[in-house]
Amino acid sequence: MSTEPLHIVCPHCHTTNRIAPADLGHAPDCGKCHRPLFTGHPAELDEAAFDKHVGRSQLPVLVDFWAPWCGPCRMMAPQFEAAARQLEPQVRLVKVNTEEAQNLAARHHIRSIPTLALFVNGREVARQPGAMGAADIVRWARAHSA
Ligand SMILES: [Zn+2]
Repeated sequence: MSTEPLHIVCPHCHTTNRIAPADLGHAPDCGKCHRPLFTGHPAELDEAAFDKHVGRSQLPVLVDFWAPWCGPCRMMAPQFEAAARQLEPQVRLVKVNTEEAQNLAARHHIRSIPTLALFVNGREVARQPGAMGAADIVRWARAHSA
């Protein structure tokens, strides 16, 4: 693995931090808000925060596009939580409420929910509509971010 610092976007204040790869696994804190950069939970993002994460993060960003009224989305939520605990700190997991971020969902042509999408260096590399279990989410994300 490279020793060049990685750009890691804080899930709380969305500031870009520079973290050495060797420090990723040692619970790094945000230099600005001093909260943990990895919490084991997906970060809830609005459109502005989403653009910061996808545009600046040098970690793959796994997005769950969901909505509160969607039954399969609510069923998948604990699976996505469990996947976050397994995939962090190699992958950043985030959730986008498509009811609130309608413009963002339209920009990315989200036609059904839940939809998982994986972004690497600002580019979408894979997309999977439909609910998945935690093990399948982890497998799918690793297969496409390696
Ligand atoms: Zn922060």
